[in-house]
Amino acid sequence: MAYLNDNYLKLQAGYLFPEIARRVREFCDANSEAARRLIRCGIGDVTEPLPPAVIAAMHHAVDEQSVRETFRGYGHEQGLESLREKIAQQDYRDRGVEMTADEIFISEGSKSDCGYILDVLGDQNKIAITDPVYPVYVDTNVMAGHTGAAGEGGRYHGITYLPCGPQNGFAPEPPREAVDVVYLCFPNNPTGAVASRAQLNRWVEYAREHEAIILFDAAYEAYISDPEVPHSIFEIPDARECAIEFRSFSKNAGFTGVRCGFTVMPKSLHARTSDGRKLPLHPLWHRRWSTKANSVSYPVQRGAEAVYTPDGRKETRELIDHYMGNARILREAAAGAGLEVYGGVNAPYIWVKTPAGLTSWQLFDRMLHELNVVITPGSGFGSCGEGYFRISAFNSRENAEEVARRLGNL
Ligand SMILES: *Cc1c(COP(=O)(O)O)cnc(C)c1O
Repeated sequence: MAYLNDNYLKLQAGYLFPEIARRVREFCDANSEAARRLIRCGIGDVTEPLPPAVIAAMHHAVDEQSVRETFRGYGHEQGLESLREKIAQQDYRDRGVEMTADEIFISEGSKSDCGYILDVLGDQNKIAITDPVYPVYVDTNVMAGHTGAAGEGGRYHGITYLPCGPQNGFAPEPPREAVDVVYLCFPNNPTGAVASRAQLNRWVEYAREHEAIILFDAAYEAYISDPEVPHSIFEIPDARECAIEFRSFSKNAGFTGVRCGFTVMPKSLHARTSDGRKLPLHPLWHRRWSTKANSVSYPVQRGAEAVYTPDGRKETRELIDHYMGNARILREAAAGAGLEVYGGVNAPYIWVKTPAGLTSWQLFDRMLHELNVVITPGSGFGSCGEGYFRISAFNSRENAEEVARRLGNL
C-alpha cells in the first residue's frame, strides 16, 4: 500500500473560516429577519469589478487567440517578457531599485508562490514567522515536514514565533537567536501594520549577519499612503543579497478570481548547499518553474500588463482609493465607539482590541447577534491575535457606512 504525507496529519483543522461560516449559518437559520441585515466584513476578498483597462486587454488577448496569425501557444517559462519588463521598470527601477526582467517570475498568485518557494530551500532551515500571521506561511512549512507536532495554543514545535502587539507596533524586531528563513508581510494581513525603513534595515542587517533569507510578502504595497514607508524590501540597501519578494495583482487590481502575481528572485541572492558551498538560488527557481509549470494564461498576463498602462494605473488607484475610503470610515467609527484601533491607514484591514476583556470569539458572537456584522476573530491568526478582531475594508461604500453606523451601538 502507498504511504501518504504524514505531515498533513499534523495540520490543525482549518478552523477559522469554516467556524465563521458555521456560526453565521446557524445564526441566519434562526433569525431570518436579521439575516437580511447581515453585512460581511470577514474574509479578505475584494468586492469591486476589474478595472476597464484590464477587461479590454483580456478581451483583446482572447481575440488574438482566435486568429492563426496572432495565436499564441506555450509562452516564456517566467511569463511574458513585456509584462516582466513593465514590472521591473515601474515597480522597481522607477523607485530607484536595481531590477531586471529576468529576476521576475510571473505566477498564478502569491499564495501559491509562498508554498512553491519551499521547493528550492533546504529542509534543515530554521523558520521564523510573526504571530499573528497569514496562516499560509505556517501550514506550507508543516506540509513540507519542517515542524514538529502542534503543541498547546496551536504553536508548532520547531518554528520560531515573533510576537506582535502594540508594544512593537505589530512589527517585530529580529530575534536574538539565529534563524535561517523569516517570513515578513508588510503592509500586514491581519493587523494592517507597516514596517518603517529603520525596522526593515534592522531585518536586512540581521539576515546579512546570519546568512538568512527574508521572504517578504508585499501583496498590499499599493495601499501604502505614508511616503516614508518602503513599498518593497529591495528599497533597503543589501536586500538583493538576502530577500525574495512576493507580489500579487489580487488586492491592487482585483485579480482574486482572475489569478496572477509574481515572485522577485534577485540573481545576487545565495544560499548554502549542505556541504557548505554558497550558490545562487535563481537557477534553482528557474528550473523549478520550467520543470513544474508552463507559466500563466496568456489573456490573464495581458490583463496584468494593462495595470501598468496610464489608464490601468489610474483605474487601480481609484479602486484602492475606494477601499481606503471605506477603511477610514470604519477606523473612525471604531475609534469613535471608544475602541482601541490599529491599521487601516496603509492597509485595507482595521485591527481592533476587543472591549471589556472579551475573547475574540465572544466579540465575534456579539457583533453577529447584536450588530449583524461578520468580522474575523483575531485568535484565528495566532495566539497573539487573541483579544483582537479584524474588520476588512473590502466592501461597497454603502455597506462600510452602514457598519460604521452600527459600530456606534456596540
Ligand atoms: C491576499 C493575500 C495574498 C495574495 O494572494 P493571491 O494568491 O495572489 O490571491 C498574499 N499574501 C497575503 C498576506 C494576502 O492577504
